[in-house]
Amino acid sequence: MNPMSAALPPRLKSRGVVGRVEDAGLPFMTDPEPSQRKCPHCGAHLSRFEIPDAAGFDEPYHLACFNDECPYYLRGWAWMLEQYGVRSSYRYRVDPKSGHESPLAVWSSTALKGNVVPDGGVDGK
Ligand SMILES: [Zn+2]
Repeated sequence: MNPMSAALPPRLKSRGVVGRVEDAGLPFMTDPEPSQRKCPHCGAHLSRFEIPDAAGFDEPYHLACFNDECPYYLRGWAWMLEQYGVRSSYRYRVDPKSGHESPLAVWSSTALKGNVVPDGGVDGK
């Protein structure tokens, strides 16, 4: 058991995070363990990473999909170029506490990968 699960507020389950992925027909997404969270776009395991600009957040870690094959991330390159004319993209990111999802801006395929915390690298405080 991951100690993180004990720290999860029960309300997370009703925030649509789990329900949405069930709708996508991905049975493995029903597991509420944070370490078992998977990207709704590609099914890859979400990685915990240290937020580079943590000032605006309650906690220093979020979960994000760092799969370079993720369609959400791959689409982002074309979208950003089209909308803003910049070579940039974003990855699927979710706040493990609130369940809030938001795009994580990245400027290269390796951006922020150095911030990824290996499993077990952080205790659930
Ligand atoms: Zn993904």
